[in-house]
Amino acid sequence: MERVAEGGCQCGAVRLRAAGRPSTVVYCYCVDCRRATGAPVSLFAGYRTGQVEVEREKLKAYASSPEVVRSFCAECGTPVSYEDERLQGEIYVHVGVFEDLKPFEPEAHNWFSQKPGWLAVQDDLPRFEESSVPR
Ligand SMILES: [Zn+2]
Ligand SMILES: [Zn+2]
Repeated sequence: MERVAEGGCQCGAVRLRAAGRPSTVVYCYCVDCRRATGAPVSLFAGYRTGQVEVEREKLKAYASSPEVVRSFCAECGTPVSYEDERLQGEIYVHVGVFEDLKPFEPEAHNWFSQKPGWLAVQDDLPRFEESSVPR
């Protein structure tokens, strides 16, 4: 049976379903993610857009740079996804919105150069100064 991950925002206005395995699961410490979430680190699951079904009615999109659109719930503000013009056909979902986090084992640290020094990382995952996903 195909695995399906379900999730949604804090208020429940935005629901989503992701079918199958993500192509990658990565931490990101970049400044843009930090500002978009208010958190020192984000965890993303990357999918082909066709794998992810989002109810877009309450989803609001914000272009955080010319190529990047970040989407969040217009009601409660939960950050939901990241899409990049340079990564056609891909969508990166904030893992925290999924109900069951078990299947989302992280694979790498991106933008490790921007990680705050006090945030201790003790795993052996690859660490990228910038992104592990080529643009
Ligand atoms: Zn919401
Ligand atoms: Zn980032």
